[in-house]
Amino acid sequence: MNLERGDVLRVVVVGGGMGGAELVRNAATREGLELVVVEPKEMIECQALYPDYLGGRVGVDDVVAPLDPFCRKMNAVHVRDRAIGVDLVEKRVLCAKNDLDFDLLVLAPGAVQNYFGIEGEEKAFSINTLEETVRARRFVEEARPEKIAIIGSGPTGIETACLLAEGGSFKIYIVEMMNRPLPTLSKNASILMEKILAGKGVDLLTSKRVESIRDGGVTFADGSRLDADMTIWTAGVRPAPLAEVLDLPKKNGWLLSDRYLRAAGREEVFVIGDCAWIEIDGKLATKTGMEAEIQAKHTARNLARVRRGTALKPYSIRASTDSPVALISTGCGCAVGIYGDLCVPIPKRIIYTFKSWIDKSVVRRFKVE
Ligand SMILES: Cc1cc2nc3c(=O)[nH]c(=O)nc-3n(C[C@H](O)[C@H](O)[C@H](O)COP(=O)(O)OP(=O)(O)OC[C@H]3O[C@@H](n4cnc5c(N)ncnc54)[C@H](O)[C@@H]3O)c2cc1C
Repeated sequence: MNLERGDVLRVVVVGGGMGGAELVRNAATREGLELVVVEPKEMIECQALYPDYLGGRVGVDDVVAPLDPFCRKMNAVHVRDRAIGVDLVEKRVLCAKNDLDFDLLVLAPGAVQNYFGIEGEEKAFSINTLEETVRARRFVEEARPEKIAIIGSGPTGIETACLLAEGGSFKIYIVEMMNRPLPTLSKNASILMEKILAGKGVDLLTSKRVESIRDGGVTFADGSRLDADMTIWTAGVRPAPLAEVLDLPKKNGWLLSDRYLRAAGREEVFVIGDCAWIEIDGKLATKTGMEAEIQAKHTARNLARVRRGTALKPYSIRASTDSPVALISTGCGCAVGIYGDLCVPIPKRIIYTFKSWIDKSVVRRFKVE
């Protein structure tokens, strides 16, 4: 890119979620970058607090920050539109309403719930977006389900079960396809979580593959059934639909990055957060807010390097799938801290308070008083 002193590079950021907003916050102080965020929502949403919201521990205000005032404060422009494609030759983001030209593009459209094509997915509740989580909480409050089935025993499924168990007199079941809860974390974490769930009266059903969701419960691949008044699906995500239409290299549908977090083979396009497949030196980045945040900070610095005409710095993954970091709320003010094989069960408020502080401070940093 041939740049003159004083030239301003127009950076279009697709997605104003955790990754996109954090990128704007960090790129705003860099010289020579004009920032434009394309995001159809009015709010920056913090998914990490959705289980707390569902369990009635926090309100909507705690989980969102308005995007317009934040962008204004950062000297960025929020375009309330949805990207539907990218013309890489003309360097233009194609949007539902008005297209946008860019010099540099950051793709951060995140991920959406994956139901893996099972029958009856529309009968399930999801807590992947605020809208869906609000719908789920309303159902809990108004329909007062007696039996709740939570599909998926990853950190989100576990937190949802524990926080619901704390706040109501429901019979809660967690269904897991693998043979242990928290299957992507260490065996120590699974053993500890089995004990915690049993202590809360949550029934854990492992090695059970859901085949369909019906009114009144789920049916498993082995022909057995589980009756439930509400089914909450937490079992997996897939790339945001935008990724499908982009003519960029992918791995299993995720946008493939190089070691500088650029879309593989493209100098002017960066990919960060949940939409990206980031594999560097044999490590694969986890799809977590923590990773999205660090990737955003790194990319902001690399955008400034492009502007200055200096060499980009490679990214180093912090939370990888082989050494995951997780803080899982287990209700009643307790939480479990997991770092690789290490698993710290502190049945006191310390870890929960720490997690809650981190999650709320993420939202607060985007709020403009
Ligand atoms: C219930 C739940 C709990 C979680 N808890 C934790 C936790 O405790 N700790 C943790 O580290 N992580 C947690 N995560 C994961 C974390 O929230 C994500 O990893 C993080 O939000 C990813 O950031 P992102 O910017 O890639 O995507 P998102 O934050 O999802 O943002 C993507 C944005 O892109 C927008 N978008 C999508 N398509 C388009 C388009 N075509 N055009 C324009 N905009 C578009 C979306 O509207 C959205 O605002 C949790 C996730 C869930 C669902």
